[in-house]
Amino acid sequence: MKVQPADRILRLPEQFFSALVRKANSYLAKGYDVINLGQGNPDLPTPSHIVESLREAALDPATHRYPPFSGLPELKEAIADWYKSEFDVELDPAAEVAILFGGKVGLVEISQCLLNHGDVCLVPDPGYPDYWSGVAMSGAEMVMMPLLRENDFLPDYSLLSQDVLLRAKLMFLNYPNNPTAAVANREFFRETVEFAAKNGIVVAHDFAYGAIGFDGQKPLSFLQIPGAKEVGVEFYTMSKTYNMAGWRVGFALGNRDVISLINLLQDHFYVSLFAAIQRASITALRSSQECVRELVATYQRRRDVLVGGLRELGWDCLTPKGSFFAWIPIPNGMRSVEFADHLLERAHVVVAPGIGFGKCGEGYVRVGLLAPEARLREAVERIGSIRL
Ligand code: PLP
Repeated sequence: MKVQPADRILRLPEQFFSALVRKANSYLAKGYDVINLGQGNPDLPTPSHIVESLREAALDPATHRYPPFSGLPELKEAIADWYKSEFDVELDPAAEVAILFGGKVGLVEISQCLLNHGDVCLVPDPGYPDYWSGVAMSGAEMVMMPLLRENDFLPDYSLLSQDVLLRAKLMFLNYPNNPTAAVANREFFRETVEFAAKNGIVVAHDFAYGAIGFDGQKPLSFLQIPGAKEVGVEFYTMSKTYNMAGWRVGFALGNRDVISLINLLQDHFYVSLFAAIQRASITALRSSQECVRELVATYQRRRDVLVGGLRELGWDCLTPKGSFFAWIPIPNGMRSVEFADHLLERAHVVVAPGIGFGKCGEGYVRVGLLAPEARLREAVERIGSIRL
């Protein structure tokens, strides 16, 4: 029998970065000392008090049973309290918080909750490719919003046509931004609330890097803006803030109608996360946040090593303002895939070609600050020693 996949599966975009992983692995298999700065996987361990809390919770048989649908109320309360203390945002834990199996899942789910064939979803270009997957499955159409250097990598809503605005139902934004490392300012978020309300568009703000702002600048939560909860939700994740990428814990926060749709969809897919993981997440949110401050300081030092080193080589490097990436204009006019291949072949350094994040990513590569300073210094030295 020939198995015929459903149309929604056939519509899924190609996973661009799997080719990059394959190439890097082939160099590792040949025994080269590869410095992999191409991925977004935090390299440092989860702080030990969080791991210890998981250990204790896992020993309690109460956590071995099915957790409540839509998650532990105590975790929702911890999230609401944490948002209040970190961002001065008030959230009703019962109605304005949904617990997710990592942010990625929520970002795919929201398109299934809101979009039909014929609808439009506004997506940043360059942007995180998982937005595309959710929109593709829903059958809606994507309209790209270019993020350009001359606009500080913020979209320009005035470029969208009336036809697009009439059909648009959902919009993704992401600041601090992957891949450009740009941050949003209050005026832009105010303009976004106004634009979304006027055009009936739900805003999905991906705040995955909400903890990682440099030079003493704390990133803004979209929910800090008056009226934001009327038009949108914010996605947060434990992956980056607490180095918990493998634990798969994220949240959606804000507009109660959208939150209830996400919870409804999840009731049909899942029960909820392992209760021990939920308890350890409460520990992370309710304990001292010193570990987060230390992590941000580490990324800032790494940023300075990488960007400072590349500038010494004469590269026109942008200074990352947040996230743990550097978005680097290609210095010699090569296409991004060709340039990334060249760095891998000659310097054994892996970077992510900008085109993988969308058409407007061409001309750039994304470099992760996800290796110790000494390795980043070595990567710069190796790059400096090859002819570009
Ligand atoms: N959003 C952005 C922009 C990301 O870079 C990532 C992870 O790399 C995520 C969301 C998803 O993170 P997670 O699924 O681990 O919560």
